Amino acid sequence: MKVDVKYTKLFINNEWVDAVSKKTFPTINPQDESVITQVAEGDKADIDVAVAAAKKAFHRYSEWRLLDASERGRLLLKLADLVDRDVQYLAELETLDNGKPVKNAVGEISWAANIIRYYAGKADKILGNTIPADGEVMSFTLKEPVGVCGQILPWNYPIPMFIWKIAPALAAGCTTVVKPAEQTPLTALAMAALVKEAGFPPGVVNVVPGYGPTAGGALTHHPDVDKVAFTGSTEIGRVIMKAAAEVNLKRVTLELGGKSPLVIFNDADVEKAALLAHRAAFANAGQCCVAGTRTYVQSGIYDKFVAKAAEIAKKRSVGNPYQDVDQGPQIDKEMYDKVMGYIESGKKTARCVAGGARYGTAGFFIQPTVFADVKDDMKIAREEIFGPVQSILKFETFEEIVDRANDSNYGLGAGVVTNDIATALAFVKHVRAGSMWVNTYEHVAVQTPFGGFKESGIGRELGEDGIQQYLENKTVTINLPKKPLI
Ligand code: ADP
Repeated sequence: MKVDVKYTKLFINNEWVDAVSKKTFPTINPQDESVITQVAEGDKADIDVAVAAAKKAFHRYSEWRLLDASERGRLLLKLADLVDRDVQYLAELETLDNGKPVKNAVGEISWAANIIRYYAGKADKILGNTIPADGEVMSFTLKEPVGVCGQILPWNYPIPMFIWKIAPALAAGCTTVVKPAEQTPLTALAMAALVKEAGFPPGVVNVVPGYGPTAGGALTHHPDVDKVAFTGSTEIGRVIMKAAAEVNLKRVTLELGGKSPLVIFNDADVEKAALLAHRAAFANAGQCCVAGTRTYVQSGIYDKFVAKAAEIAKKRSVGNPYQDVDQGPQIDKEMYDKVMGYIESGKKTARCVAGGARYGTAGFFIQPTVFADVKDDMKIAREEIFGPVQSILKFETFEEIVDRANDSNYGLGAGVVTNDIATALAFVKHVRAGSMWVNTYEHVAVQTPFGGFKESGIGRELGEDGIQQYLENKTVTINLPKKPLI
């Protein structure tokens, strides 16, 4: 499949520019390990230029700041239409750089276009409060854009993540500098071209590809950046929060890792539950922060469930992501090696009932792998694998499983499968995670907030909460005597 790569430079001030250093870096096709192209490599000098552009675009009399809020909404609607127009091209480019099946990319991108529309509608509905304050005063609040935002993206859902970040920021009236993941810079640049075509003024959205410690680090350490929004590992989330604390206490929202439990009770339909659990664990080749990778199954249906889970995993089609397959390659060599390391560890400690090896001989493909008889203290049950690996664990009672589900530093998602409403609601109440799913999993709607408890993050994206993270609350208090002066 030949996909035309149109943009490989930095996007600053609505212009395509080389890096100040003139350096470039290769982006790799995970399907066959070939170099797709060289991309301009931004670092501190380029982040300085991009942040200056975003700061200028945020000036109180800039073209952007003088727009009516409804006009910001109209620009976003235009952008959503352009994404829909180009969905096939964007999906094929995403597959080239990321390896996910084209059909999945098409679905994700169409879904993400509706995030843009959701926030377009919010742009002129950002409301403060009038407050009956004590004293001879009248008080109200103004919701104002936070300012210049640094947005650091992961590689697992490149276009949806670009949109999760920019859409609420732009609806709120902020300006942004986006740093895509070094593994997947191409679609962020293609999206930048659409931002320009939609008519956003120069400097409102800037995209600077580059590496984490250099370009990402420069963004988090920049004194003129008012907020950083980050999606990635918990390890780097800590680094970002520390940088923000040291430099200017910039606002930070973090969407980090997970090791989410999916708990299946005896009364579940085993076939349906096994399919749900399969999808929860293997979606996006397991490269999903909210993947349900700890599959807890009650003892009464355990053996039947394990057999079914293995059968479904063995049928999962893996291969060329431009064909009609369920799973493409992992993102890169580093992740491939990491996941294979977990698989080796699992083979030593648990019972491998499906997969357990590389798929094919080229590219970063891994067989869908299922471990049964996993124990809570095993590495594969505790650490985020970020690959096509499902761990099945047995449980007996409700009280036991609530404690075990909560026994993790993470708290991104959790699911429960049961027909008993009291069991489901008690589970929802006592398990600590940002997204709880009952008889479904990973249903993430544009309208509902998404984010983590504990070390899975800070703040929420999507829904009303998502735009609030891009707003400051300004309280205005006006002297107003209770009796008229005249
Ligand atoms: P992963 O381990 O899955 O690649 P990371 O958390 O390392 O996830 O990366 C997510 C994003 O964070 C990428 O865009 C990466 O370049 C960026 N990043 C990595 N290290 C840093 C850092 N020190 N400062 C800022 N951003 C970083």
